[in-house]
Amino acid sequence: METTTNNKIPTTYKPNTVIKRVDANGNLISERIFNDKGRVIKDIHHTNHGNPKMHQKVPHEHIWDWSDPKRPKPSK
Ligand SMILES: [Zn+2]
Repeated sequence: METTTNNKIPTTYKPNTVIKRVDANGNLISERIFNDKGRVIKDIHHTNHGNPKMHQKVPHEHIWDWSDPKRPKPSK
């Protein structure tokens, strides 16, 4: 488990790691979960991105699609 305030978390990182992103006050914004290959497999967002119509559920998950390894994509 690691914690950062950086909003640019990589899509590949140390295997089996969770990075928690927090704001300057330490409030949890998101979690990024990496699998045993060091690829992001899931984001858990603890905000609605300022868009409650699109993101009614908080927290919500985005599952990453690695079918094109050069362009991994998060689900909406
Ligand atoms: Zn989200």
